[in-house]
Amino acid sequence: MNVELQPIAQKVHTGQRLDAADARALFASEDIWAIGRLADTVRRRMHGDTTYYNVNRHFNYSNVCALSCKFCDFYRKRNEAGAYEFSTDDARDQARRAREAGATELHVVGGLHPYLPFSYYTDMLRAIKDEYPQLHVKAFTAVEVVHLARIDKRPNDLEGVLRDLQDAGLGSLPGGGAEVFDDRCHDEAYKGKIRSDKWLEVHDAAHRLGLMSNATILYGHIESVDDRINHLLMLRDAQDRAIDNGWPGRFQTVIPLPFIPGESALKHLPGPTGLGDLKMLAICRLVLDNFDHVKTFWIMQTLELSQLALQFGVDDIDGTVVWYDITKVKRDGSTHQETTAGELRRTIVEAGFAPVERDTLYRRVERDGPAWRVVETEPAGAV
Ligand code: SF4
Repeated sequence: MNVELQPIAQKVHTGQRLDAADARALFASEDIWAIGRLADTVRRRMHGDTTYYNVNRHFNYSNVCALSCKFCDFYRKRNEAGAYEFSTDDARDQARRAREAGATELHVVGGLHPYLPFSYYTDMLRAIKDEYPQLHVKAFTAVEVVHLARIDKRPNDLEGVLRDLQDAGLGSLPGGGAEVFDDRCHDEAYKGKIRSDKWLEVHDAAHRLGLMSNATILYGHIESVDDRINHLLMLRDAQDRAIDNGWPGRFQTVIPLPFIPGESALKHLPGPTGLGDLKMLAICRLVLDNFDHVKTFWIMQTLELSQLALQFGVDDIDGTVVWYDITKVKRDGSTHQETTAGELRRTIVEAGFAPVERDTLYRRVERDGPAWRVVETEPAGAV
């Protein structure tokens, strides 16, 4: 191990919290294998060789968006070719398909549609839960929640909006829309979107209401290393806030998302490399000591790199997915992006880990074909 990493290794082995200078040294180091081993130490301390996966489906209800973020290859303006919006009946149909496939979770996000009323979203949630009550609906990024509060003319009542969504069937919040918590990046690449303070305000409100949530960081575009570090430290502070206040909700997992240029306005940028992805995942595991899980979203990192990432601090691979419109990995632009539970298990076993199917709240799932049940009442967190 290079000498600059030795004080960090000492902290990791004695369970001390890393600071910004440690994170900077990790990013500066080229000793990727030593960084991986440190992250693996923490991951095994928390989870042993357990690796989680889930059987889920994604539903992107509309790509119509009032904003035009530069990294985004998903949005369309309302009358533009390719713009779509699904109906409540379409949402019900998604729930029926999820039931037939035995999915435990529906992940629902979309653009910031300028014309749909608040009732569209609550009707959608009710239709899904009516069709398949056992299904967990993880829906609406913090950016969408703020948008819904605005269209319902109560921009300062985030808790009220979340409570209404919860009453209609919302089970938890995804972690999207965070991008990088930095005003320069915000103003250059996603101006018009909420800033970090608002994103964190939504998640604080959700945690106070008992909603679990996730967190992301979109990296490998115009941000600096210090921007990444600040972002992680702000997430860690927010998690401390939830824990110290005894709020019933908290962040469950961090999902680092590599920027994929696609046909976005930032397509001239190369995006991160495989080693860059592994380093980022490992540093997330090391810095976010109060997060139970680090997850790869294989649509972004690929399943092959996700398998390797299990040695770099990752303990969770999401998921069977099926349809995903936001990032198209295939050259033909297809949004059918699916893997099977069997393939996820094979990926995990071959890497030397023990696959465990989980539900959205990290409870173990026992399955007989499409029929499933939760076999633990408490979330399967750190061992
Ligand atoms: S990233 Fe989200 S808010 Fe930004 S343009 Fe795309 S869909 Fe709209």
